[in-house]
Amino acid sequence: MIKNILIKARQGQDLSKEDALKLLNVKNGSEDFYELLSAANQLTREEFDNKGYVFAQIGINVEPCSVDCKFCSMGKSHFAMNETKKKSINEILEETNILIQDGVDDLFLMTTADYPVEDYLKIAREVRNKIPDDVRLIANIGDFDKDTAFELKEAGFTGAYHINRLREGIDTTVKPETRIKTLDAIKEAGLEFYYCVEPIGPEHDYEEMVEEMIRARDYDVDVMAVMRRTPVKGTPLFDKGQITALELTKIAAVTRIVSKPQRAMNVHEVIPMTLLAGVNLLCAEVGANPRDTVSDTETGRGCNVHLIRELLIEAEYDV
Ligand code: SF4
Repeated sequence: MIKNILIKARQGQDLSKEDALKLLNVKNGSEDFYELLSAANQLTREEFDNKGYVFAQIGINVEPCSVDCKFCSMGKSHFAMNETKKKSINEILEETNILIQDGVDDLFLMTTADYPVEDYLKIAREVRNKIPDDVRLIANIGDFDKDTAFELKEAGFTGAYHINRLREGIDTTVKPETRIKTLDAIKEAGLEFYYCVEPIGPEHDYEEMVEEMIRARDYDVDVMAVMRRTPVKGTPLFDKGQITALELTKIAAVTRIVSKPQRAMNVHEVIPMTLLAGVNLLCAEVGANPRDTVSDTETGRGCNVHLIRELLIEAEYDV
């Protein structure tokens, strides 16, 4: 029985690694499963005041990336995109304008790891000038040091999304220590911290996931997420397949409870059933997307802002 663990969570206590593993080992579809979802849902609705969020991400470039992640369509040794591309500042501003008019709360600007930081900062300053003060701007780029973290802040970013991925250094070419240094730089610069347990595949065990949930909590994560790996044809991990939406829903609920985000809980990609499990935000995508093989993901896997808002309203979140 998981009752006592959920009581601790509802009292605001930190759950231990063992508690988290017990929750993850609950059988999908069992009575405990629904109690778990219910606890995550209750915590989100109460702590976040029933607020739902619409996020959007613009992928700025589609180019072979030297980090060469084995799950990504832009990894240099297995590049699986239909073209290479670098968006112009005008294209980015035009897309920004549409997303702002559509009412996004947080806007992410994503690049591959090799994108020149100076160019990125220039783009960010222009985007910041075009968006209202209450819209958060989030950096999603390769690793960076403390000086760059402060430059990001000075350019108008309010937060950064950065991850020590599952099997970092094995399925990617970046060492976990490098990722951790970047996480430290984000915190030192006072940027809001966005984290994710990702990219979850059938081969990952629960211990690996719990490590990242607790890492997020230790860093006082503002916005937390889970992402299942999308098997992209042509990438080395394609044959490993994908976990089910129900399994991801359970992992989302446990992640919500264990990592204790300050503001919101997200899931990638958009999976409506997770809205029953403490997820109160979803993300629209425009441009490059490591889970897609078309360079404009809004014509492929990416969801648009209107659909996301509708899903949140249907789940009776206030948006
Ligand atoms: S996931 Fe990011 S860092 Fe990894 S290869 Fe793709 S673009 Fe590069």
